[in-house]
Amino acid sequence: MNVILEHLTKKFPSRNKKQPQDVVAVNDFSLEIPDGKLIALLGPSGCGKSTTLNLLSGLLKPTSGRIFFGEDDVTDLPAEHRGVGLVFQNYALYPHLTVKQNITFPLENRKGKDKLTKQQMAEKALEAARLVQIENLMDRKPSELSGGQQQRVAIARALVKMPRILLLDEPLSNLDARLRLQTREEIRRIQRSTGITTVFVTHDQEEAMSISDQIVVMKDGVIQQTGAPQEVYDSPANLFVAKFLGNPPINVFDAQVKNQTLYIGEEGVLPVPSVEDQSVTAAIRPEGFLPKADGALTCNFSSVEIMGRDISVVSTHPCSQNATIRAIISGETPVTTGKTVRFDLKKNKVFLFSKEDGARIFF
Ligand code: ADP
Ligand code: MG
Repeated sequence: MNVILEHLTKKFPSRNKKQPQDVVAVNDFSLEIPDGKLIALLGPSGCGKSTTLNLLSGLLKPTSGRIFFGEDDVTDLPAEHRGVGLVFQNYALYPHLTVKQNITFPLENRKGKDKLTKQQMAEKALEAARLVQIENLMDRKPSELSGGQQQRVAIARALVKMPRILLLDEPLSNLDARLRLQTREEIRRIQRSTGITTVFVTHDQEEAMSISDQIVVMKDGVIQQTGAPQEVYDSPANLFVAKFLGNPPINVFDAQVKNQTLYIGEEGVLPVPSVEDQSVTAAIRPEGFLPKADGALTCNFSSVEIMGRDISVVSTHPCSQNATIRAIISGETPVTTGKTVRFDLKKNKVFLFSKEDGARIFF
């Protein structure tokens, strides 16, 4: 089912007497989530991701705006009638119940025609447990499970009702690196096989990029950009998005445009036809550097780090906003280094942004 968020705003009253204005956690947020897709809400801590999720779940009421599940306006519908499955960072399992009892819990209190027999509940629990591959752990207590297994129980519990929408709030944060990777793939697989429209909240750009059909980058309650992960990486709408995506991070320089040429320091490094003369912020992806003995940009060489197939050339430049510049170069490419290292730049890996507001300047 598709989900529509229409001009959603959520304000919280300030508890700080010195700053009496409301906290605007989510600000005029509009988004359409297509049926059966997995969307990641991505942004730094405090940008309004959980608030947005809680507006979807019904745990919070918006200050203004509407929410639609398919044709239904659910804005005033209480959480228990929305048919959403929720998974949080801390798995919140009942410690005294077995895995099976934890999973069947959301089915226990059904009344009238929805009431299920013990047999039916057991079957549904087993089905959900199979999806997350914990069917052999049904009689254990949560304390007898690893973190990854506990999180799978929480996911099975969210799935057992066959929710209309699955909402996951930083579900992998408490897992170690290896389990995080494995559980992430698992969530993707389950989402694909069930086709449940899913919203996945994370502050981890790599997680968001790898798991989702679409990412929504947020800052201070405001959507910065929405798109397929590769689209957003390849064409960031503003400096914030450019800096938030990518590892190693994008390399940011203070630069000037003069006579349709981009200058970093004294060096003209790239033709930028159609851009007016001005000071700009130039950002270059690590894979945007081509080492060349007579390259256009001269940096002060620091070191070379071997990264398996590729190498990372580390350097500095007086105009760089990052402490070090990282260029990722294919291992086969010859690199001449001495006191300096020189690069030509790949045009489609260089982005210009306004000094005033960080908006993208296209060329
Ligand atoms: P995120 O999940 O992206 O880290 P949140 O949605 O939790 O961010 O919070 C967004 C902003 O709203 C933050 O500034 C946070 O302090 C504020 N906030 C969240 N919940 C409340 C609340 N119940 N009362 C007051 N302020 C809140
Ligand atoms: Mg949060």
